[in-house]
Amino acid sequence: MLEENDYETVRYESPAPGVARVVMDRPDARNAQNLQMTYELDAALQRAADDDQVKVIVVAGGDPHFSSGHDLRGDHGKQVEDFPVVGMWRGFQEPGAEGLISRESEIYLRMYRRWRDIPKPTIAAVQGKCIAGGLAIAWVCDLIVASEDATFSDPVVDLGISGVEYFGHPWEVGARKAKEMLFTGEAITAHDAHRLGMVNHVVPRDELQARVLELAERIAARPLFALKMSKQAVNQSQDAQGQWQAMEAAFSLHQLCHSHNVQVHKIPVNPAGLLPPKKKGSGAPPSKG
Ligand code: ZN
Repeated sequence: MLEENDYETVRYESPAPGVARVVMDRPDARNAQNLQMTYELDAALQRAADDDQVKVIVVAGGDPHFSSGHDLRGDHGKQVEDFPVVGMWRGFQEPGAEGLISRESEIYLRMYRRWRDIPKPTIAAVQGKCIAGGLAIAWVCDLIVASEDATFSDPVVDLGISGVEYFGHPWEVGARKAKEMLFTGEAITAHDAHRLGMVNHVVPRDELQARVLELAERIAARPLFALKMSKQAVNQSQDAQGQWQAMEAAFSLHQLCHSHNVQVHKIPVNPAGLLPPKKKGSGAPPSKG
């Protein structure tokens, strides 16, 4: 397990008694999620879960944006096997669909599922852009507080992909809005997301962290075991409605799209998992679902 001082891409903070805050800290990459950040997020969340003094976990993104999604620019030669793999899928280097589904199962589907099931309340503090894989990080948290400027989008249909691997859209915004988000690739605003029930509160940007901390402290004042059980009860209700099975099914379609891209469009599966990195100087870091 990565220790606190080993983190390169996240910060672990203790802003108040009973509250841990895990901050994605790759501002130059708009907090795009590479392997390093994935496993450091996992280590930091595990650390918060391990600490009996921590009752509520806040997940935040260093300014200016919460997260631009998965980082397509590669991992400086590192592979999944270079990190403390948490799932049981293997064969990450196998050719074709076999390696890709293993890799994405580990870092994009089951990793998020693991975070969603942390037996402590979690709160996402979202500002600026929250795109594709960034959406998934917000979605796995129990509560989402957004600043007024926050926007949420999953534009990966443009890349020939059905939607981000952790397919929460229909559960988060309803089936009809989910289709519009996917079909158009356009962002919904924080106020839209609040109206649709995806976001708990919308607050001014300069108050975001303080308001989230205040909420976290209110929750942390309550008994942890009952909090865990109420979280479990809600998560189990979603599971009973078939949320996980639906996500697994959507993940299979996502993999079908990757294979189609390889077969028909001759897009190589590179170490980042999908598309060739954009050329230097082409603007914002590429991101994907
Ligand atoms: Zn994928």
